[in-house]
Order: sequence, then C-alpha cells, then structure tokens
Amino acid sequence: MGFSRAKVVETAVLNPRLIRIRLDVPDLADIALPNQPDEVVAIYFPVDGRDSPPDMECRDGVWGYYDVDPMPEGRNYTVRAIEPGTTVMTVDFVVHDHGVATTWAQRTRVGDEVAMAHGRGWYRPGPGTGWQLLVADLAGLPALARIIDELPDGVRATAIVEVVEESDLDYLPACDGVELISLVGSGNGYGDSRLDVAVEEFDHPEGLGYCWFAAEAKASRAVRKHLRRRYGWKADQCDILGYWRFDGEKWARKFEAEGAEALEVYTQALAEGKTPKVAGEEYDDALERVGL
Ligand SMILES: Cc1cc2nc3c(=O)[nH]c(=O)nc-3n(C[C@H](O)[C@H](O)[C@H](O)COP(=O)(O)OP(=O)(O)OC[C@H]3O[C@@H](n4cnc5c(N)ncnc54)[C@H](O)[C@@H]3O)c2cc1C
Repeated sequence: MGFSRAKVVETAVLNPRLIRIRLDVPDLADIALPNQPDEVVAIYFPVDGRDSPPDMECRDGVWGYYDVDPMPEGRNYTVRAIEPGTTVMTVDFVVHDHGVATTWAQRTRVGDEVAMAHGRGWYRPGPGTGWQLLVADLAGLPALARIIDELPDGVRATAIVEVVEESDLDYLPACDGVELISLVGSGNGYGDSRLDVAVEEFDHPEGLGYCWFAAEAKASRAVRKHLRRRYGWKADQCDILGYWRFDGEKWARKFEAEGAEALEVYTQALAEGKTPKVAGEEYDDALERVGL
C-alpha cells in the first residue's frame, strides 16, 4: 500500500456533464486496487496554480499529507477502466457547479499530475443472490457502467438511473439483460433526487435481493432505511454509498460543530467488534439525530 503520481495523457469531453481523463499511473500496484467494479482511488489535486501536488507521506501506516501548506485536497473517483497490459487508467468526472475536482477536470492539460492513493471497493453480491438492484446518479454512472460491463451472463439486474438529460444515458454500455428505469431531470444538484421514491416503488422479484447504490447522500440514507427496515434486509444484502452531498459546504460546517458525537458512535461500534458496514449505519443514524 502506498501512493502513485499520475500524469494526464488524454482529456475528452464525453457530453456537457461528463469529462473523461486518462492518466498514466506508473506505481499502479502501490494503490492496491481491490479489483472490484466500483473500485475507487482518492485523487489529490495540485494547489495554487501548480501542475502537480507534492509527494505523499506515510505516518502510522496511513498515506496522506501532513504538515503541508497549502494542503492538497483529495476526492474519490471511480476507476472506470485500466487499459489491459498498461498502467493507463480512465476516470470520468461529472461537471458540476464548483469544487476542486470538477474545476481541475475542466482545466487540466496533458502532462499535468495528481497523486493517487487508497484503492477501495464495495460491490459484493453475496452467495445465493437471485437478483440485483443497481442505483446511480451521474456521479455513480462510471461505477454502474463498469458493473454492467463485468456482470456475469444470466444475472437478473435492474438499474435505476437519475440523469439530467436523456442523452446522459448514452454513457451506459449496452445492457442486454439489465432492465433500465431512468429518471430524467431531477437530482444531480438540479433538484431533489427521486431515486429514493423509485426504489420504494420497485417491486421486488422472488429470491434473495442485493442492492448497490451510488448517488447523493440524503437519498442513500432513505434507501438504506427502506431496505433494511421495511424489507428487513441483512447488512450484507446492500452496499449503499453516499457519493456526494447536496450543499456540501453547509453540511461540512454543521459537521464541524456537531459531528463529534457521531464519530464517537462509529469508533465505539468498531471497538465492540461490529463490521465497518454496521458501524457506518450506526454512524449515519447518529448523524441524522443531530440533523446532519
Ligand atoms: C466511492 C466514490 C466514487 C465516486 N466516483 C465518482 C466518479 O467516478 N465520478 C464523479 O464525477 N464523481 C464521483 N464521486 C463523487 C465525487 O467524489 C464528489 O462529487 C466530489 O464531492 C466532487 O468533488 P469537487 O471538489 O468537484 O466538489 P466539492 O468540493 O466536494 O463540492 C463542491 C460543491 O459541489 C457540490 N457537488 C459535489 N459533487 C457533486 C455532484 N456530483 N453533482 C452536483 N453537485 C455536486 C457539493 O454539494 C458542493 O456544494 C465518487 C464518490 C465516491 C464516494
């Protein structure tokens, strides 16, 4: 486990809301990608108009930036693809109003550098899964596309996708065998998400279900509660991830003031031997109790 620098080798505008960036990642193995279709890296961006961030450092086993001023900011991005036999990685960025990552993606040029670390992944349908519900907004689309690419033949799956315009759906690979339910014009920072309602209205087929969800955090909370409480699903039947937060700056300010108790709940749950997923659910419940 370590970090790698990554150099931009190509940029392409896929549509008005998605930019594709291909990067050469010479120390790819050091990022320790788990080889799951929703795998991500934390990408750290240069600051102050520079075209590359400083080297990362390992302290107490954790790679990051310590005592660096100004501190490069990091964001999570899905590994859409690794070109076979190379160290070239494809990452697709949503274009939204503002933010260090989306701004970098819109301005970056061939030769610019970022730093990458912390490969992780979640998508893991358990043994005996009979059908899958895959839910994403624009930010979740790259991971959903890769899940569809890698879905074994014969798997029964439904994808519920929330996009801004119908043409955003062209991004998805041909998905024979995957039923597609599309919500157009909502969520994605343009309005309230309708993903939670669509999941509630979805009729469960017979058999053991699995849900993977990657979209705005408020909708993720509603979906998790719906599946875990109304349907009594076990924790390992779902991987429900909040990929971003609407009005994230306001949330971060409130978290700064009132989030400590929730963090304590998370730490305590892990100390009691609960899995990170169950600890994460208790953490999210604690956040909700303080209005976060
Ligand atoms: C596991 C994981 C995988 C992800 N994979 C991808 C990916 O492949 N492609 C991708 O584009 N994103 C992906 N994301 C989401 C991405 O990390 C966030 O959108 C991130 O906050 C963007 O950083 P930023 O610096 O541009 O904006 P920030 O500085 O984080 O936020 C600035 C403002 O923009 C708003 N904002 C942030 N993200 C969005 C958005 N997607 N739509 C509308 N408004 C937004 C915030 O509410 C805030 O007000 C992933 C997230 C996770 C957790």
